[in-house]
Amino acid sequence: MHYRIGFGYDVHQLRENEKLIIGGIQIMYKKGTVGHSDGDVLIHAICDAILGAANLRDIGFHFPDTSNDYKGIDSKILLKKTIELLNNKAYSISNIDSTICLQKPKISKFIPEMQKVLASVIGIDKDYISIKATTTEKMGFIGKGDGISAHAVVLIEKNK
Ligand SMILES: [Zn+2]
Repeated sequence: MHYRIGFGYDVHQLRENEKLIIGGIQIMYKKGTVGHSDGDVLIHAICDAILGAANLRDIGFHFPDTSNDYKGIDSKILLKKTIELLNNKAYSISNIDSTICLQKPKISKFIPEMQKVLASVIGIDKDYISIKATTTEKMGFIGKGDGISAHAVVLIEKNK
């Protein structure tokens, strides 16, 4: 079996009166992410990990934030397109592991729903999508509530 691994990282600023969308679902909170797309930091990190595993550059290369095509776009569409790029190279996802770094709000109760949504977009069982959450113990820009970040690793396998 031919396997490859990829890593992805993304950061967004948090600001009042913006939507907070993480892992394909909207979470009600006074602040949300600033971004050209819907600012879904988890999906962006996962897309970058997938692209990295297949050596397909990065999310900004395929979906530039200078393009009006991607203004306010639902990141689930970007994920779907990323999976198409992966499949075009004859690879599919083995599993995903990820961590969201956020001081507030507490998001652990939303994780099963995120797994369900991402599993349906990617077309794999939710058991292959791990999502974890951590704070930064009130330190740095995340700890101060100014931003959110996400890390993801993805294993891909060559289709037979
Ligand atoms: Zn992003």
